[in-house]
Amino acid sequence: MKRTLNLLLPLLSLLLIAGGCSNKKEKMEQELKQFIADWEARVEPLQRDAYIAYWNASISGNDEDYAKSEQLQFQLNSIYTSKEDFALLKKIKESEAVTDTMLKRQLDVLYTAYLSNQIDTTLLAKRIKMEVEIEKKYSNFRADVNGRQLSDNDVEELLKTSTNSAELQSAWEGHKKIGQVVSADIIALVKVRNQIAQELGFKNYHAMSLELSEQNPDDISSLFDELDNLTRDAFAGLKDEIDTYLANRLKINKDQLMPWHYQNRFFQEAPSIYSVDLDKYYGNQNIEELTTNYYSSIGLDITDMLANSDLYEKPGKNQHAYCIDIDNAGDVRILCNIKPNYSWMNTMMHEFGHGVYDKYIDRNLPFSLRNPAHTFTTEAIAMMFGRMGSNPQWMQDMGLIDSTEKVRIAQDTYQVLRLEQLTFSRWAQVMYRFEKSMYENPDQDLNDLWWSLVEKYQMIKRPEGRNEPDWASKIHIATSPCYYHNYLLGELLASQLNHYITANIVKSDDFRYQSFYGNKEVGKYLTQKVFMPGASLYWNDMIEKATGEKLTARYYAEQFVK
Ligand SMILES: [Zn+2]
Repeated sequence: MKRTLNLLLPLLSLLLIAGGCSNKKEKMEQELKQFIADWEARVEPLQRDAYIAYWNASISGNDEDYAKSEQLQFQLNSIYTSKEDFALLKKIKESEAVTDTMLKRQLDVLYTAYLSNQIDTTLLAKRIKMEVEIEKKYSNFRADVNGRQLSDNDVEELLKTSTNSAELQSAWEGHKKIGQVVSADIIALVKVRNQIAQELGFKNYHAMSLELSEQNPDDISSLFDELDNLTRDAFAGLKDEIDTYLANRLKINKDQLMPWHYQNRFFQEAPSIYSVDLDKYYGNQNIEELTTNYYSSIGLDITDMLANSDLYEKPGKNQHAYCIDIDNAGDVRILCNIKPNYSWMNTMMHEFGHGVYDKYIDRNLPFSLRNPAHTFTTEAIAMMFGRMGSNPQWMQDMGLIDSTEKVRIAQDTYQVLRLEQLTFSRWAQVMYRFEKSMYENPDQDLNDLWWSLVEKYQMIKRPEGRNEPDWASKIHIATSPCYYHNYLLGELLASQLNHYITANIVKSDDFRYQSFYGNKEVGKYLTQKVFMPGASLYWNDMIEKATGEKLTARYYAEQFVK
């Protein structure tokens, strides 16, 4: 009897625990479902109104519309500052009781969205005030170049066109003076941002920014290391070509080349050392029609989005381009200012890349998961299609050039793309590593850190004895912190998808000149494997399911290094 009891007791308590668990699980899941239903009822209509107001404002450009847009955006943001909502989500998350995959995913997405808005309001106000002050200083700054006041655009223009070393040097140095104006403010801002991050439980602001967007800082650093190793030698070779070209053009020796000789303020874009004029192919073309025909040929219909879009110049209208998913339910709009040239061809293909991603996300997913897996995954799709505008195979398939012309420009167009990519990738290394290190220790010698990274990754020479806050002349460091790396991750994924589609759908081993024109399987693959899952999968799981591998730098190197 006693024995039996002894045996039974542990069994009973096991059953009790299991029973308690499933009760708790049910209770938590029920509570979460209720919260989500309530959250959706508040956010869905408000987001739609806010996005429509933003859209209207960027087309009319009038103050009234902008005021309405700002007010709705503020209302939308303030939902996420709720302490009660966050406490509930935190309790559910920490219980670890939610096991249903789709519910758990929604919980993670909502928890993160709320967590990033749980900032102490005094600190938040302080941060915003500092950011506004710094931004004002950037806007008001003009470079004094031999007594002339030059805007950033003027400086860029001068650096691109002048061949006079003394003039180039004064323009570059004149622009860098903004560094002295804002550097102390930025260091103070970095410390406030770190304080915010630490109060939310993160090591520093850089770590927080990455982790809140589901990026493990160590994973991102490994990708940057991998890319550094893969691109270093090829870039060194190209850099030598650039130097030979520039030294010739400027009539100086290669070893006299200084940072002001590289045709832009940061050597973030490739100097134009090859001569391809892509504009001439687009001068008489209907860019809108080319875009529609192309996407339709790969099985992606954009006509519904075209009807909602605003594609041509108007007085007062925003002069740039963007894609916006108004309601996560099919109302996707694109703003452009089309002119018949290469740049707008690239932009239309890019923006409708974002468009098809948004449009084809599975409408049966819960509202909070009807978004791309990550901002850089939608950027990757946009970049992959944007690259088509300079791809001679694509140009031939679209009827812009014949096969003789294709052969004639193939080498040069590839060289241009390769030069652009490698130059940008080395610059992104500097930005990523600088920000990471700056947030880890804002009191270190940042001037020296910056130039050590520039020398190492961009391979340009630090002017002798230079000890100035040149890092602070890059506005993104102050105003768009810890985001720059996503541009490069987008390029890596664009190449990884290009490789997968070429090898497995087109079944070719030519990874440079694929247009996918007319291949509906391509649209089907992207829809099923990339677009439809939306944010229901963590981005690297989506990539692994779609390509058989996690995000890697290998295919970027395959496309642009060899
Ligand atoms: Zn984009």
